[in-house]
Amino acid sequence: MRFTGGITDTAMQETGITREPGCEDELNAGLLSVDEARARILAGVTPLQEAENAALRDALGRVLAEDIVSPIDVPSHTNSAMDGYAVRAADLPQEGSREFPVAGTSWAGRPWLAAVAPGQAVQIMTGGMLPEGADTVVMQEHVERDGDTVRIGAGHQPGQHIRPAGEDLKTGQPVLQAGRRLTAADIGVLASLGLETVRIYRRLRVSFFSTGDELRAVGEPLGPGEIHDSNRYTLYGVLQKLDVEIIDLGVIRDRRELIELALRSAAAQADAVITSGGVSVGEADFVKETLEKLGTMAFWKIAMKPGRPVTFGHIDQAVFFGLPGNPVSVMVTFFQFVRPALLRMAGEQHPPPAYTLRARATTPLRKRPGRFEFQRGILEQTGPGEFSVRSAGQQGSGILRSMSEANCFILLTPDRTGVETGEEVEVQPFQNLI
Ligand code: AMP
Ligand code: MG
Repeated sequence: MRFTGGITDTAMQETGITREPGCEDELNAGLLSVDEARARILAGVTPLQEAENAALRDALGRVLAEDIVSPIDVPSHTNSAMDGYAVRAADLPQEGSREFPVAGTSWAGRPWLAAVAPGQAVQIMTGGMLPEGADTVVMQEHVERDGDTVRIGAGHQPGQHIRPAGEDLKTGQPVLQAGRRLTAADIGVLASLGLETVRIYRRLRVSFFSTGDELRAVGEPLGPGEIHDSNRYTLYGVLQKLDVEIIDLGVIRDRRELIELALRSAAAQADAVITSGGVSVGEADFVKETLEKLGTMAFWKIAMKPGRPVTFGHIDQAVFFGLPGNPVSVMVTFFQFVRPALLRMAGEQHPPPAYTLRARATTPLRKRPGRFEFQRGILEQTGPGEFSVRSAGQQGSGILRSMSEANCFILLTPDRTGVETGEEVEVQPFQNLI
């Protein structure tokens, strides 16, 4: 018995070909590729629109909902980049040295308001406003001060050590665009513009539950054949990293009515619903039926391991992700499909890509061709720009320990067979991301 209704079966129905599915299915080009599944999911979600005002500090890590145009010049005045003396370039000696009377001092925030007359110097501090008439600063280390005069030698560049008004940002200049997740530097930039509040998108609401008669919550004793529900904890963790509002709906028994109720309630409360389990062979039918009854769903068999069966669709206004039950499959499919979709839904226009690196394998890796394998690896830096990776151990989709010990996915493309020690592989670090 195989899970039916996937893209393969539909494609076969359309072409009139029928056959019993077999183990060569792994090689079947009709399975959906990882990239295609991700592209369909991204095409099937829309960014939320509702925005709110936030005080600058509260906007850190949130997604900006307005374009920011600079209301002022930053800096607002031409100032000195050094502690030194402001002079007119035309007065600088071509050779030898020249003595300048020091007319006063321009401190940062306490400007010298008079003009610098020809032949004069004004002492100036870093950030001090350049007095009228002056156009050049000579560093304090390059002069000889003697009482009220200062001696300046030859060799200085006209205009040196000056920070012109608007050098950082000019009035009317576009600064940050809507759809950007605000970093510490962004918050600093907004502060430099004097903005107290900004518009940000509201937090995305994500509800999730686990399905399975065998699941017990932590703290409950295990009966025969039972296991603790770990998926809600990994999902909680990965969602927390995405700064979404989390609605945990617990464990739902494998009963049609209960699943339907849970799905309805999950969709009513959230922008996105994530479930784990219940879509693999055996228990699939009623979950599938329920999902089809409640919304529009696609049931995909993806040419990947782990995480082959994934369901994606909509229930009312909510986007639905049905992830496999196996703990590692949950994390892999979350990272590869759900995470980019949630970032887009949260309003992020250009989420930073999950970077990949090349690393030399220090253990052999077994791999079947015809599917994308996301093996769990331990990445180490061996020199500047040089990395090695080894397997994090058993690669079964139920071995959560390997996920916990790993710090990267080893990306083995469908065409690839095994990897020998010493071969280069592509890896995707996930430290701090999940
Ligand atoms: P399923 O997709 O429901 O057939 O589950 C596949 C495997 O994952 C089974 O061995 C389940 O016991 C296990 N599993 C499902 N849900 C969870 C969960 N929330 N926590 C830990 N293991 C789970
Ligand atoms: Mg189950």
